[in-house]
Amino acid sequence: MNGAASRHAFGSAPAGVMQPPAVVLPDAEVFARRAARLRELAERVSSLADFLAFMGCVAQAQHQLLATGEAAWHPAPGAFDLALAHGMAPLGIHALRPNAAWQADLAALLDALELYAGERQRPLLAALREQTPAALETLADDVLEGRSGAAATRGLMPLVAAALQLAWVRLARTLPCPPERPGPEAQALCPCCGSAPLASVVHIEPQRSGVRYLHCSLCATEWHLERVKCSVCGRGGKLLYLGLEDERGKPFLPAQAEACGDCGHYLKLVPRELDARADPLADDLASLALDVALAEQGDYQRSGYNPLLIAGE
Ligand SMILES: [Zn+2]
Ligand SMILES: [Zn+2]
Repeated sequence: MNGAASRHAFGSAPAGVMQPPAVVLPDAEVFARRAARLRELAERVSSLADFLAFMGCVAQAQHQLLATGEAAWHPAPGAFDLALAHGMAPLGIHALRPNAAWQADLAALLDALELYAGERQRPLLAALREQTPAALETLADDVLEGRSGAAATRGLMPLVAAALQLAWVRLARTLPCPPERPGPEAQALCPCCGSAPLASVVHIEPQRSGVRYLHCSLCATEWHLERVKCSVCGRGGKLLYLGLEDERGKPFLPAQAEACGDCGHYLKLVPRELDARADPLADDLASLALDVALAEQGDYQRSGYNPLLIAGE
């Protein structure tokens, strides 16, 4: 670590000396940027236009509620200090689940979405309103554990996930400081809440230009992982970067699959060098064709977890 250089206020530190932050908590605009990106991708990816446009509405509703909604639970001051001081995930999903009051966020999200929902989505909103609190908790179990859930109610899981994201992003924004970066044994678990990464993203702003982070599927915290390193097995000798091309052979979307020949897994990588507005969740959804192609090919298994995507048949 070079603390002195990273605190340098005058911009004269030589390039390469600046230490990028190891863990970055979500900012207030995380859902707004995602909503804008989803709207943009809905225009570009015609085969997924309706789906991406509705997910854009979901992200917009998440943003509104993060900005103006009232949390149903307020952690006591200093509630997370002990965990932060001891390198433990302060917002662990199991520990905080009883307090997180995420069902209030779901109800608010459904109200906000009534304005945007088309004929196709109304039955989905109605079905969610009919679930008992216990049934909603079962759906949340499946979302938080990354399971595909029961076939009959699988379609309800993305909006449950959106409410859980809202609750956990709000909590992450109350932390007094980011947690420490996880050690190598837990490099693929969010240091804030313990969830799996959705994808990784390479940033372009000055303080962390060219630096790769894993992006949490639940709380949107980002933590540094060296580039050209598999997030599943930690090796880097047999990595391939696979992307989608248009009919002229040009890259179609910035998202790539970082595919590892050592362990047979891939994680989506979203390089902002290729598109400054790219978002891990939005660009992962828009590049579903890449997952389909890799599943057909059968060489690599997906490792990223996108809770807004319905898994299974
Ligand atoms: Zn997290
Ligand atoms: Zn690997």
